[in-house]
Amino acid sequence: MLQLPVREAVLDKGWMQLEDLMGGDAAVIRGARICYQSTARSAMADARLIERLMSSTPRHNTVFEHAVFRFAAKCPLFVARQWMRHRICTFNEKSLRYCAADREYYVPDVERGRDAYCAHMEASFDLYESLVQQGWPKEQARGVLGTAVYTEFIWTVNAWSLMNWLEKRLDAGAQAEHRAYAEAAMSLFEKAMPITAGAFTTSVLNR
Ligand SMILES: Cc1cc2nc3c(=O)[nH]c(=O)nc-3n(C[C@H](O)[C@H](O)[C@H](O)COP(=O)(O)OP(=O)(O)OC[C@H]3O[C@@H](n4cnc5c(N)ncnc54)[C@H](O)[C@@H]3O)c2cc1C
Repeated sequence: MLQLPVREAVLDKGWMQLEDLMGGDAAVIRGARICYQSTARSAMADARLIERLMSSTPRHNTVFEHAVFRFAAKCPLFVARQWMRHRICTFNEKSLRYCAADREYYVPDVERGRDAYCAHMEASFDLYESLVQQGWPKEQARGVLGTAVYTEFIWTVNAWSLMNWLEKRLDAGAQAEHRAYAEAAMSLFEKAMPITAGAFTTSVLNR
């Protein structure tokens, strides 16, 4: 039994956390077996059924929607901006209208220009804090901050939509920083739904 929450560190200050899970592999089996009014004879038969559902063309997608995850993530704003293009899920994010921005930003692992990058980020936070002190509303003062600033959000997503995100964001064409979150989520997915994640890895990711 997986003890929740489980957190994986990502990038220099971020993380991906699995907070809650409804259903898991058993919910996929339940969804599939009601279609056929069948019952499992063994755990192996259930695993084979999931593998068949995952590799069939077209895939029997809705059965995977019975398993639902609630994740939390701490990531740079530019990663969150891409992530939130995925619509079949629910997000709630820390508000920089209501909360002061923490002086925390992503620093890429690149030597050249690093000092200038950090100096720029620090200066933007100096200005932000000074504007807030002068009475600017936080919702306007935040305009001077860059997209490397860390944000936090909650993400509720079913297993089908999670796999859609994973397929796109684990791809070599995805931005490396976003891919790092997909790798962490994949590792949590494997812990939470080992049979479905295994079938996904073999049939969809071809790993
Ligand atoms: C490498 C990469 C680069 C990208 N670059 C850009 C970019 O430059 N600019 C940009 O705007 N976006 C960009 N995107 C985002 C991309 O266009 C998609 O919005 C994002 O990947 C979400 O995919 P999705 O629609 O499958 O997921 P979801 O929004 O979660 O939707 C899941 C599925 O539901 C169905 N669906 C959802 N909504 C609709 C709808 N309105 N009509 C019909 N079917 C629907 C589709 O089958 C869809 O695949 C990029 C994505 C990647 C991976």
